[in-house]
Amino acid sequence: MARLEQLSQQVLAVMAEIGQDYSKYQHHRGLFCRSGCGECCQHPGIEATVLEMLPLAFRLIEEQRADQVLSDLAERDDARCYFYQSHSEDRKQGQCSVYQQRPGICRFFGAAGTTGRAGEYQLSTCRNIKTDHPAAYAETLIALESDPPPLIRHGQEQIRQLDPELASNPMPLNQALATALEKALFEQYYQSAE
Ligand code: SF4
Repeated sequence: MARLEQLSQQVLAVMAEIGQDYSKYQHHRGLFCRSGCGECCQHPGIEATVLEMLPLAFRLIEEQRADQVLSDLAERDDARCYFYQSHSEDRKQGQCSVYQQRPGICRFFGAAGTTGRAGEYQLSTCRNIKTDHPAAYAETLIALESDPPPLIRHGQEQIRQLDPELASNPMPLNQALATALEKALFEQYYQSAE
């Protein structure tokens, strides 16, 4: 198996493990996402690294959708994620169409930790979760030091260690995918030529 394809499998395994940690924390603290909510996926500022997008790139190649997606992305004038499928007119309801291969950043959505200047734990969570679960949110804030949330930067670092260079330059999600696709296709082209 060629290097990037192998790397993509390692990235997927690490991201799946990290995703479970964040999901466990979110459920254990009672900070559940609103059913069918896709508001966070609509944000045009979501960034990912090329490394995080490799598993999705290889899935698209396997499904023979790579060229179509690349051409759609080149014409696209919308920074929001290409893979978000909205189910409502205001686009607030929807779902991820590539859930198993979603990048690391998407696995931190919901409730995850950051640290402040003095190293104190902080909670990064969405407005809807705060509104829907005010008691759980308040209790989680009180318990931040005794029951700390998994830190976003730790998850990012675990992924980064697999290939610091491909993880060095976060960029808009669609752009990161296009770059990952180009690299994966390039590798496959040379492999088949050999
Ligand atoms: S990859 Fe999936 S989870 Fe991530 S922003 Fe796109 S639709 Fe949402």
